Amino acid sequence: MKNLEKALQLDNNDPLRSYREQFLLPKDKDGNPQIYFCGNSLGLQPKTAQQEIQAILTQWSTLGVEAWFEGKTPWIDYTDRLKDSIGRIIGAHSTEVAIANTLSVNLQLLLSSFYQPTPDRYKIIMEKDAFPSDQYIIQSQVRLHGYDPADAIIEIDNDDHHILSVASIKETIAEHGQTTAVILLGGVNYISGQLLPTQQITQWGHAQGCRVGFDLAHAVGNAPLSLHEWGVDFAAWCNYKYLNSGPGAIGGLYVHERYHHDESIHRLEGWWGNKKSTRFLMRDHFDPSIGAEAWVMSTPPLLSIAAIKASLALFDSTSIAQLRAKSEQMTALLLDSIADQIGDQITVITPGDFDQRGCQTSLAIKGADKALFSQLIQANVICDWREPNIIRISPVPLYNTYEEIVRFADILRKLIQE
Ligand SMILES: *Cc1c(COP(=O)(O)O)cnc(C)c1O
Repeated sequence: MKNLEKALQLDNNDPLRSYREQFLLPKDKDGNPQIYFCGNSLGLQPKTAQQEIQAILTQWSTLGVEAWFEGKTPWIDYTDRLKDSIGRIIGAHSTEVAIANTLSVNLQLLLSSFYQPTPDRYKIIMEKDAFPSDQYIIQSQVRLHGYDPADAIIEIDNDDHHILSVASIKETIAEHGQTTAVILLGGVNYISGQLLPTQQITQWGHAQGCRVGFDLAHAVGNAPLSLHEWGVDFAAWCNYKYLNSGPGAIGGLYVHERYHHDESIHRLEGWWGNKKSTRFLMRDHFDPSIGAEAWVMSTPPLLSIAAIKASLALFDSTSIAQLRAKSEQMTALLLDSIADQIGDQITVITPGDFDQRGCQTSLAIKGADKALFSQLIQANVICDWREPNIIRISPVPLYNTYEEIVRFADILRKLIQE
């Protein structure tokens, strides 16, 4: 097994090594951990998740409704206490962050505010092959405002392997910018694993008078982000992929500070977005919270948010820079281990340049069909499959090892050569 020795050495010297023990790893039938490379889809469970959820259950059972305002950690401030951690992960002030709803819902809410088309400026620029939900969201928003998706939606074209060239993004914005209301792109594309130049796109969009937002589902907890500094207008993400907060976890949204006092921004509103100080006066008019919190509609579902708390505590004790350093080394080892013996049977779709990628590597396997994927599962490799022949592999620096990468490459080689 080429690279095994190197991998074992890297694991031994890994400053993040102890984090793996903080997670519950799915096991094979002999009780050994499977090779779990699916953190891009559902991150693993932090061991403390159960405790945090139990803590809410206990408060509920002992204090009932009083738990909102009583006890050591009243529920009323529960999500507020998590915002600094999220802010560090996405590079935003805590007032620019809210934890609420789910990703698709947040995109709809944010577009309801930031997509305000006029006859001269009504288009939305997005990427071809965006995640289906994003396509449905944008199409439905355009129709809601009485426009025709075929006219109002501009898709940036990609190449045969799902990659957007930076030049084509720039050209599309230059060509359509003056008639575009919103640019909404994925931070990392779900299928290719390509990381887009978020900062540049924001600048190009703003230069044309467009608002610029990102779907950060595959970028958050994975790629370095400085949303505030880059001037990104709005963003949303889910917390169940690289943020390890459990299936269907409550999501997050970001709204740049420049909109926090902007009364021209409309919202779909609910009582939980009302300022905390006047919320319970039960008045008949909305008194918005200052910041992203104004987009929260409902009472926070704390049993779900408790798992986010458990996960964020782990992120708090390391940094995106440190995770990223390990992720780059893992990717280098993965690409080297694959190129070695089976390079001619595999096309690596994800760009090799670290500025253009996160943890995920998408592999197109020549002549393969879904049987290969089933064989990988039987060999205890958990990854995912996208038609017609793409495997997505995401070694996650918090809980995967270098050894797993080399073992995976060896399993894949044997399956392909058989
Ligand atoms: C995972 C993902 C979603 C899922 O949205 P939910 O509302 O959380 O189901 C949406 N968009 C992208 C780009 C994703 O990767």
